[in-house]
Amino acid sequence: MTGATGAIETVGVVGAGTMGSDIAQVAAASGFEVAVRDIEQQFVEDGLATIESNLDRDVEKGRRSRADANAVRERVTGTTDLADLGDCDLVVEAVVEDIDVKRDVFADLNDITDDGAVLATNTSTLSVTTIASATDRPDRVVGIHFMNPVPVMDGVEIVVGEKTADAVVESAHAFAAALDKETWECEDKPGFVSNRILMPWINEGVRAYDEGVATKEDIDRGMKLGTNVPMGPLELADHIGLDVCLHATETLHEELGDRYKPAYLLKRKVAAGDLGKKTGQGFYEYD
Ligand code: NAD
Repeated sequence: MTGATGAIETVGVVGAGTMGSDIAQVAAASGFEVAVRDIEQQFVEDGLATIESNLDRDVEKGRRSRADANAVRERVTGTTDLADLGDCDLVVEAVVEDIDVKRDVFADLNDITDDGAVLATNTSTLSVTTIASATDRPDRVVGIHFMNPVPVMDGVEIVVGEKTADAVVESAHAFAAALDKETWECEDKPGFVSNRILMPWINEGVRAYDEGVATKEDIDRGMKLGTNVPMGPLELADHIGLDVCLHATETLHEELGDRYKPAYLLKRKVAAGDLGKKTGQGFYEYD
């Protein structure tokens, strides 16, 4: 339970996909007891299996001991029942990037969690304020936007909704610091800082590829060698998930106009189910 100091001890994660499983792992590695919820048992098990294989890799690479990996794993429990997150001091929602699904999750969290719990969304581009309005305590709702892959990336974006209380913003920064992450803070404006700038970069990379400016490899090499980023736009899109990129770009387009119009090829690849690394095929092919 949240103590007088607002300290967070137990963490809930809703959604055991790419981000949810990583967030659960990083929180457990920092000593928090974590409960992860997904809608189907298979998805819960897939999320837990991802955590186990990440921890195994850490052990193989000498980054942590077997005993430590086991202890981290034991701090994570999986469930399909949202009510199992009822006692959590902080819940991070990491379900699909769909405003209706997220609002339903927050309406349910409103019913099952304590009044003092911090309710966070990991949304990439949706409005924290709109998500918060599905609850009757929007002051307790904040954006804690993790970067992918969560165990590797040092930064977390804290998004302040229209009604978010200062104490909740502070708790969000403190939670990120407890996970050994640095933070930056922004207003609840479309795409926040990160995706407002990143998504048009990816989108333009897709357009350049679609319009035959260069091969996909040369577009990625050009941006890596030319601007010193670790991944080019097409590689990064595959890594994030093309569906996530398309959703984000569509939201920005809706809110900010034509300069954010999604590339035709991005829409076509998502329609074909080529979502990137997670389906084995995006702009590149994966085993
Ligand atoms: P994902 O598709 O890998 O995982 C989403 C998970 O949510 C799935 O396992 C799905 O079964 C589950 N889910 C759907 N409805 C649910 C519900 N009602 N309750 C519980 N679980 C439910 O997606 P992801 O890439 O992990 O993205 C999750 C969120 O994180 C999105 O809002 C996305 O925009 C954001 N995000 C993604 C990235 C990225 O690089 N992928 C980075 C930062 C933020």
